[in-house]
Amino acid sequence: MRKILVIEDEDSIRGFVVINLKRAGYTVVEASSGEEAFEVWAQNPDVLLMLVDVMLPGIDGYEICRQVRARGSEVGIIMLTARSQEMDKVMGLMNGADDYITKPFSPAELTARIDALMRRLSGGTVQTDELTSAPFVLNTKSRQLFRNGERVDLTQVEYMIVKTFLENPGRAMSREEILKTVWGPDYFGDLKIVDVNIRRLRLKIEEDAASPKHVVTVWGYGYKWNP
Ligand code: CA
Repeated sequence: MRKILVIEDEDSIRGFVVINLKRAGYTVVEASSGEEAFEVWAQNPDVLLMLVDVMLPGIDGYEICRQVRARGSEVGIIMLTARSQEMDKVMGLMNGADDYITKPFSPAELTARIDALMRRLSGGTVQTDELTSAPFVLNTKSRQLFRNGERVDLTQVEYMIVKTFLENPGRAMSREEILKTVWGPDYFGDLKIVDVNIRRLRLKIEEDAASPKHVVTVWGYGYKWNP
């Protein structure tokens, strides 16, 4: 469970952020003021990261950041700033924030910055039972795959293939390597079994299995997961 607290008073921006973080596989709680944020945080002590708008009614984003750090919390903090705000001031007042994002921002920029901070927070190792590659979340405890929060039914072999890919995003993997990883080193079946299962997997997880976006073919070699 990777939980993010979004603190933003403008409903449209908060809604946009929340929808996109959920799509990226995060669990999201929200608040529209600093005061509310501390209540929500108290109810959700497992929050790993806070997205904090600078300009808020009541206590502002800088003050939230200062108070969070004053409590000794090491939760990740990303500030949301407006382009009109002077960067010198923003940097000077970060008060222990880990990063900032300037409005307006795209969903891709938002999730990239959050994913990066999440990786830093976990010291480069995955400490959760989840492997994430938007819009997919693979729970390795329940062995279930979710796409935009909706469960995708997989066979155990398909599950193992997805797990292998998500542990090696962006890396071309030979069919032999996939066969050995998924079927075990003692399996001496035909390599075509890999292709058969990849084809079926694509039908389940790709929007268009004929032109796959996630499980792509590396010609003459094998397959690669495109994050
Ligand atoms: Ca605001």
